[in-house]
Amino acid sequence: MEIKITHTTEPKSMPAEDTLGFGKVFSDHMFVMEYEHGKGWQNARIVPFGKIELHPASTVLHYGAEIFEGLKAYRRADGGVQLFRPMENIRRLNRSAERMCLPLLDEDEALEILTTFVKLEEKWVPHSFGTSLYLRPFMFGNDESLGVHMPHHVTFMIIASPSGSYYAEGINPVGIMIEDEDVRAVRGGTGFAKCGGNYAASTRAGERAVQKGYSQVLWLDGVERKYIEEVGAMNVMFKINGEIITPALTGSILPGITRMSCIEVLRDMGYPVSERLLSIEELTEAMQNGTLEEAWGCGTAAVVSPIGRLCYRDKEYTVNDGKIGEITQKLYDTLTGIQWGKLEDKYNWVLKL
Ligand SMILES: *Cc1c(COP(=O)(O)O)cnc(C)c1O
Repeated sequence: MEIKITHTTEPKSMPAEDTLGFGKVFSDHMFVMEYEHGKGWQNARIVPFGKIELHPASTVLHYGAEIFEGLKAYRRADGGVQLFRPMENIRRLNRSAERMCLPLLDEDEALEILTTFVKLEEKWVPHSFGTSLYLRPFMFGNDESLGVHMPHHVTFMIIASPSGSYYAEGINPVGIMIEDEDVRAVRGGTGFAKCGGNYAASTRAGERAVQKGYSQVLWLDGVERKYIEEVGAMNVMFKINGEIITPALTGSILPGITRMSCIEVLRDMGYPVSERLLSIEELTEAMQNGTLEEAWGCGTAAVVSPIGRLCYRDKEYTVNDGKIGEITQKLYDTLTGIQWGKLEDKYNWVLKL
């Protein structure tokens, strides 16, 4: 496929790596292409990073037709750059697109777009361990009309943001509040899709948790408020009495690539992993009788995020004395080792650019 490249005439320089934070600084360029019903995707181009114009009636502004992905480009010690399982992100983007009546991408072309873009923005991949160039592909319906129907004009873009280490201050276990009022997703809804609307609907509970001194919420299922689903915008895993448990993908849970990778690594290390329903009763019982050994969230941003405190209906429980657990640490070391190229990639997950 042809990707037209217009270089910026005002290249910026990378801020000091220890000041990056997350998602605040953007690289010099962005990828853009448009879809028109009946014509397909066209005008693939990389242009200088900048603001975009939208018609005030654009579909995305009124009806929320938007999906996105999140992945990182990692700098190896030898100076090279690599991606982690990028095809999984592309496949998931297409599954999200299908749910939201947005057009699919050709998967091989999407990978070519992604690698061409990252190669062009190579200098924006920071060098310190734990830092990365965060890549944000996204797609939105952009019809200039208020009629409610499948969008006939759609825009796909990729922007890139050099990001600091998630654990610049060390891995500190977080406090989580179990949410039994708001729900994130329902079966038949959009929980499995990575769409902006899921986040918009999650914000209220997240803010309430922060007000009470917790960093995220643990979501329960939307029908019975009984089964554990996810934590904030991460998947969740527990070790109870030797069994590692993660909620089964029932349709309302986002199928995380970190989740999938954790399961493979754990099984490979010989730990039993169950993908099954886990009720709040089973979890509270395990917290009360001390059989909850470890709990952690997992997602691209943090890799793993150990949970040190869990609050349910105003009662707080401590997990593993508030310290990171042994399995959580092993997962962190293994996945980050592969992602930053320090460990051998025996799973063939890494794509070197
Ligand atoms: C992106 C996301 C995750 C994690 O997925 P990864 O592919 O591991 O980054 C989990 N839950 C939600 C709601 C998400 O949006």
